[in-house]
Amino acid sequence: MESQRLPPWIRRKLQTDKGFTKVHGLVKDLNLHTVCEEAKCPNRHECWNSGTATMMILGDTCTRSCGFCSVKSGRPPALDALEPRRVAISAKEMGLEHIVITSVNRDDQLDGGAEIFAETIAAVKAACPGITVEVLTPDFEGREESLATLLRAAPHVYSHNIETVRHLQAQIRPQANYGRSLWALRRASEWEPGVEVKSGIMVGLGETEAQIMETLEDLLDNGVKMLTIGQYLRPSTRHEPVHRFVPPEEFERYETRAREMGFHAVASGPFVRSSYKAETLYAEMLARREGKAVHEAV
Ligand code: SF4
Repeated sequence: MESQRLPPWIRRKLQTDKGFTKVHGLVKDLNLHTVCEEAKCPNRHECWNSGTATMMILGDTCTRSCGFCSVKSGRPPALDALEPRRVAISAKEMGLEHIVITSVNRDDQLDGGAEIFAETIAAVKAACPGITVEVLTPDFEGREESLATLLRAAPHVYSHNIETVRHLQAQIRPQANYGRSLWALRRASEWEPGVEVKSGIMVGLGETEAQIMETLEDLLDNGVKMLTIGQYLRPSTRHEPVHRFVPPEEFERYETRAREMGFHAVASGPFVRSSYKAETLYAEMLARREGKAVHEAV
């Protein structure tokens, strides 16, 4: 069960500098939402200080209510047709070379918000030539056409988090399911022209190491090559308790194992989140791909 005291490797110093102030100002002035704030991400100071944030589109209210997530849930307002443009302005103002765009679930929309997602990708690319775009999406309730709408906008990285092991899905994300998440990842991995496919898992929710490894096998079998593994942290007492704080050396072991299994780019650590240092993970993926191509050409 969750201990009263955080272990030393979970404590962080929070410092705010000029980068933080700039990001904060842009988010407020452009009336945007970030998953950094809404999900109470422990990396917010580090990421915002370095001038980056992960935009959360389709509003700030999610139609689902997962046991691990602090994003507000309920009935969301109408979609905002100008949101893509504002996200693009923020990316330009921040001078981003790689952007991560995520969203709430919009199960109230026929397309799950895929069209606005696609428009946001297009607007960002138009405003920031050369930028690479990573999307972290819902499962669109398994709708092929919604996923296709998004992929036609040609993000560089398609990410969808499996979040936890098969055994804990119903408890942790009751309105999603393991098979549907694997479906989204597999479909993205089959998309032509290619897109890099990424997923993430939280640990410390009561899963076993064998269940984690089974999940990694399933991700690999469904085309995932980029992986993040991080510690689940409880946003409030209304959320799932932390079952265990996984020590850093165990995260290192998972990373080593994941690479041996065949993942090309892996980030694993207590504070790793899907979008944490996403640009670095993408660069690692590209380097690995190029390295492989050179090797195979010989
Ligand atoms: S890890 Fe991602 S969600 Fe967390 S602060 Fe950084 S960019 Fe935001």
